[in-house]
Amino acid sequence: MAYERFGGNTTCCYIEHEDTKIVIDAGTGIRILGLDLMATDLPKTGGCIHMLFTHTHWDHIQGFPFFIPAFLPNVTLDIYGQTKSVEGLDGKIEEWTIEKALKMQQHFIFFPVGTKYMSSNKTFHAVDVGKKFKIDKVTIDTFVLHHPNATLAYRFEADGKVFVFSTDVEHNDDMLIRLSKFAKDADFLAYDCQYTTAEYTAGKIGWGHSTYESAIQICKRGNIKNLHMIHHDPLHSDKTLLQMEDDAKKLFPAAQMIPEGFEFSL
Ligand SMILES: [Zn+2]
Ligand SMILES: [Zn+2]
Repeated sequence: MAYERFGGNTTCCYIEHEDTKIVIDAGTGIRILGLDLMATDLPKTGGCIHMLFTHTHWDHIQGFPFFIPAFLPNVTLDIYGQTKSVEGLDGKIEEWTIEKALKMQQHFIFFPVGTKYMSSNKTFHAVDVGKKFKIDKVTIDTFVLHHPNATLAYRFEADGKVFVFSTDVEHNDDMLIRLSKFAKDADFLAYDCQYTTAEYTAGKIGWGHSTYESAIQICKRGNIKNLHMIHHDPLHSDKTLLQMEDDAKKLFPAAQMIPEGFEFSL
């Protein structure tokens, strides 16, 4: 099997700090996270799950209808995303909140089970970009990335440790400088390493994704200790991804290609 080691589910990252539960994005990976949470005390005790969305492209929201804890009446979902004004089908500008995007995805025309059948208590929050906020003891900062329809990068800080999640970004000189400042001194940076520079320049410019070479530039410039290479190209086999990891390690030994289900603590 060519895709066994790194897996094929789309973006979902889960952070736990003491009793605080934070989920970044609801790609297809969230289905497994939901099953894992169902095997804890959560169904019995209930509780709050904070969900932070980077953006609403399919690969970042399509797992939401399959997130079982969202169907529990004793669970609260605190959902964060960016509100955007975009052109509608009729050419008029429409406002899209994270609430509208998630509800529309489960409109009856697309999916049989609407969000109204998900019994959790849901609260929606519009992220005020660049304004820090707190979830329990975790301080969170946001930054807008260069990507079609724009993505939010999140910086998490707690107990003196820093983790930055920066997926779906296309690099340019300005972005490299500003992102290295946003992620400065982070212990870990998870970054969109979809392409090699050779692939990128051979036909992927303008596709909204980046390279591990750019990630390494950000790490070096921003004094970032470790790089997590994420958002793999669906056509990259395990062999290709391992080769990319080897090549990245030659430039930055603390680079790691992240497989599905990967866990770490800091
Ligand atoms: Zn995207
Ligand atoms: Zn994506």
